[in-house]
Amino acid sequence: MRKTVRSEASACTGCGACVSVCPRGAIAMKPDGEGFLYPAVDGTLCVECDLCEKRCPAGKAHKTGNPGAFGVKNTQEDVRAASSSGGVFSALAGAVLARGGAVFGAVFGDGFSVEHVGAVTKDGLLPMRGSKYVQSDAAAALSDACSLQAREIPVLFSGTPCQVAGLYALLDGRRPENLLTVDFVCHGVPSPGVFASYLQWLRHEHGDEIVSYTFRDKRLGWKNFSAAARFAGGAEHTGTQTEDPFLRGFLQNLYLRPSCHSCTALRYGEHAADLTIADLWGAQELFPEWDDDRGLSLVFANTKKGREALDACPELERRVIADAGRMARANPSIFAPAPAHAHRRRFFKAFRRKGFSDRLIESCLRESRAEKALSRLRHAPAGILRRVKRLTGR
Ligand SMILES: Cc1cc2nc3c(=O)[nH]c(=O)nc-3n(C[C@H](O)[C@H](O)[C@H](O)COP(=O)(O)OP(=O)(O)OC[C@H]3O[C@@H](n4cnc5c(N)ncnc54)[C@H](O)[C@@H]3O)c2cc1C
Ligand code: SF4
Ligand code: SF4
Repeated sequence: MRKTVRSEASACTGCGACVSVCPRGAIAMKPDGEGFLYPAVDGTLCVECDLCEKRCPAGKAHKTGNPGAFGVKNTQEDVRAASSSGGVFSALAGAVLARGGAVFGAVFGDGFSVEHVGAVTKDGLLPMRGSKYVQSDAAAALSDACSLQAREIPVLFSGTPCQVAGLYALLDGRRPENLLTVDFVCHGVPSPGVFASYLQWLRHEHGDEIVSYTFRDKRLGWKNFSAAARFAGGAEHTGTQTEDPFLRGFLQNLYLRPSCHSCTALRYGEHAADLTIADLWGAQELFPEWDDDRGLSLVFANTKKGREALDACPELERRVIADAGRMARANPSIFAPAPAHAHRRRFFKAFRRKGFSDRLIESCLRESRAEKALSRLRHAPAGILRRVKRLTGR
């Protein structure tokens, strides 16, 4: 009797496409011990048609072509300030709404859980703005986006590369004309269970309820971004990416989804989406006169449709980027999945017993000198590794 969709759970990206693919409604997404959602099959409903496994997009390649790369900035300063990077998503979404369409993206739901929803008004777009560094639950939105595009309504779906791959899996590989897809260069998604526990820790530390939260507060600059939580009594917690314990654990790959470490959906030139958006890290070298530390985007136009959608947004100022090597140095997630932190297992063992705390993060991220030397060697450029191998004869 089938209990899950993939026999190898670590391959499952949690996109949720299988929930809608199942003709018997036998699949539901349930959290595992690390706090990530995985499909669970109700054996009493399953007729073993195997459709879920056949359609599952995990590990399948998409050859959208050689992407054109651009540096992009939204000239509407208020939009750029409220966005994580250069405000590209809002411009693309606005253009689809203006054609009477619907936009799907990630928002904070009850208790700051992250989920995908649809919007048909400008106000509905506002909570989608800004990166939420937590895996969103997109299962229902994938199905809703499919239904709307089937009714000839223009649809923009924005999500992780694996969620967009999930949407095309639901469409059985079709790329309908009225569907525009946008993904991003993806460092990986942290566990929703860990984020919920971190918020609990913050509430306990401050003795108050959280009323708003952002992962990309730009008050200290776009490059020195920080997390900011506001409490009911008016107090605030802020911490840059090197201070806030949740951001530190995220950026050091302590609690990313297992599939993120061997992800195929983010390969350069193989994104399923029409457009891939990202932070234009390295902007100070590429376009020093343009970089005002308020946020710039890197955009890959993967398809003709993606390129046309970009052209249709007059508020997006852009510059061609020719040097992919420079981008790779500044933004490694473009070319390779993030490796798991050496203490990932240790983190989850302790997390299951005691939950999140700054002390747990500190102890997991503290490396011995030997570990540091090894990790530096592992991440050394290929040329250095070749020289080391030549010298050591291995
Ligand atoms: C988990 C995660 C990892 C990322 N890793 C990198 C990276 O390594 N390098 C890099 O350059 N950029 C990365 N980004 C992308 C970057 O942070 C910006 O989201 C992107 O550049 C878009 O910026 P913007 O100003 O155009 O739009 P914004 O207004 O910031 O729009 C954000 C868009 O992202 C979507 N979104 C937000 N959170 C999620 C989520 N949890 N799941 C799915 N969709 C979401 C929203 O629906 C919206 O469409 C990552 C984003 C996320 C969410
Ligand atoms: S379809 Fe998506 S959620 Fe279902 S098993 Fe495959 S990757 Fe996991
Ligand atoms: S790294 Fe890959 S598997 Fe992980 S969320 Fe991003 S696209 Fe999905």
